[in-house]
Amino acid sequence: MSFLKFYPAKKNIPVLTYHYFREPDFKLNVSLERSYYYVSCSDFDAQMNYLYTRGYKTVPLDAFNDYITKGLEVFPKSILITIDDGLSDSFDYAYPILKKYKFTAVFFVVVDNIDKPGSLNLEQILEMKDNQMSIQSHTYSHLNLITLKPDEVRTELFVSKRKLEEMISTPVEFLAVPFGKYNSMVVDIAKETGYRGLFTLESGLNISGSNMFTLKRILIVKDMPLAEFAGMLKPSNIYLDGLISAFKANFRKFIGYRNTAIFRKFLFRIGLGSFIFNKNLRKIFFVFVSLVIVLIWVLIKIFII
Ligand SMILES: [Zn+2]
Repeated sequence: MSFLKFYPAKKNIPVLTYHYFREPDFKLNVSLERSYYYVSCSDFDAQMNYLYTRGYKTVPLDAFNDYITKGLEVFPKSILITIDDGLSDSFDYAYPILKKYKFTAVFFVVVDNIDKPGSLNLEQILEMKDNQMSIQSHTYSHLNLITLKPDEVRTELFVSKRKLEEMISTPVEFLAVPFGKYNSMVVDIAKETGYRGLFTLESGLNISGSNMFTLKRILIVKDMPLAEFAGMLKPSNIYLDGLISAFKANFRKFIGYRNTAIFRKFLFRIGLGSFIFNKNLRKIFFVFVSLVIVLIWVLIKIFII
């Protein structure tokens, strides 16, 4: 997509999103869809090594915020690494690798799960915090916020923030919304309850002047070849993924969230689940749909007008 290389004029700070980690040959006992979120330690190490050898540096959240909101200078090859859900494998596997490369990450934790089996415990959280990792909110109980009433959203956002702040004695000012789901009500309540930024699961560029309450992230999933990982960091690819993401959001709105979930399940049932997570296949689909739209438009022009 070299015709998109001119974009962006301004610097972009890529934000990577990880969820779960596993030993390379560990047999997972989870659904096929969930298994996509498990990145093997060796892949994660290779990805961090790639960033390290290419001169990337992880940017602290405050500096990221200052760059987006005020345009303050940041290191040219800045990157933000985020890890969602707060499972204990992020401490066991990801944290040692991050330390090895002197990288930091933002851990978005589900506050009600802290100290529960399989999740991070407070001791691990405090150790990571003392080693420059940032601990932020992934809400109180990981519900789909857009299905809740405003008061329930307020509780999810406010209680998680206050409880986590009490636990770690540090301000909690950034939120990652569960399943990437949000709407204007969620954004308003996030602002009202004292958050300075909201991370989504949509793709796109984060440049100076971007909206801090619709921050874009790059989802990293299992078995991603290193070349694909490297390609995903290119601004032109992030820009194109942003277009696809916006297209998908409109598609979801058009057919409805319920039907989207049914369609997603259907894709997995007929063995096309990987389509959802494969960026190259998504690009081909996007180009195909765009061509169909152009073709329909041309046919309308020729035969109707
Ligand atoms: Zn989550």
